[in-house]
Amino acid sequence: MDSFPAANGSQIIRRLVATIQDNAAYLSELDGAIGDGDHGINMSKGFGLALAQLDEQADLSTGLATLGETLFTEIGGAMGPLYGTFFSEMAAACQNRKTIDAILFGTMLQAGLHGVQDLGDAKVCDKTLVDTLAPATKSYVAALTAGATFAEALQRMARAAESGKESTRDLVAQIGRASRLGERTRGHLDAGATSCYLILDAMAGSMLALLAK
Ligand code: ADP
Ligand code: MG
Repeated sequence: MDSFPAANGSQIIRRLVATIQDNAAYLSELDGAIGDGDHGINMSKGFGLALAQLDEQADLSTGLATLGETLFTEIGGAMGPLYGTFFSEMAAACQNRKTIDAILFGTMLQAGLHGVQDLGDAKVCDKTLVDTLAPATKSYVAALTAGATFAEALQRMARAAESGKESTRDLVAQIGRASRLGERTRGHLDAGATSCYLILDAMAGSMLALLAK
């Protein structure tokens, strides 16, 4: 199949929550090296609260909206508003849609990226989650333009997210809390870029499973 029913939304959200909770200690450890060490704790608290609010029957848009609103209102630091906006924008882009197809998911990714950049003003190479999200979105859209199937484009997105995340290791933070440490941030992965990779990889994984049905 080259699309899946939006009704499978809560399943996708559940896997996102599990991924963040499983990696909470790792994400805080990364943030501890060049930040204040709260990234995994913040993220896992927010995703856990969203899971408690999640309607079992939620379609993808409703599930993403619950996640976005919960992160926006309940989570402090840089991440609450940024990921809150990311998921809320993705939700708005697929509102009332019964089927999620390749083009629609590309629109959702682009809406999420624009929301994050409008709010946080980070560019590629600033050593933030944008270093994961921007190339992942670009690769996804480029794959579709080149004739890839939904599944192939998702795989390309996940690979680009991973290399985007890895690219932050050699960068010096230009924005956010870590930028205060300047050169000392070189040699460390960015925590937000890593959580963004985990999120996109989990999203691709659940969507690939739904497409294979
Ligand atoms: P805080 O920095 O408030 O402690 P977190 O530790 O939860 O918040 O998140 C830190 C992450 O936030 C960084 O690793 C970086 O990826 C991301 N980040 C910080 N500022 C921005 C921004 N303006 N735009 C995008 N991402 C950002
Ligand atoms: Mg932090």
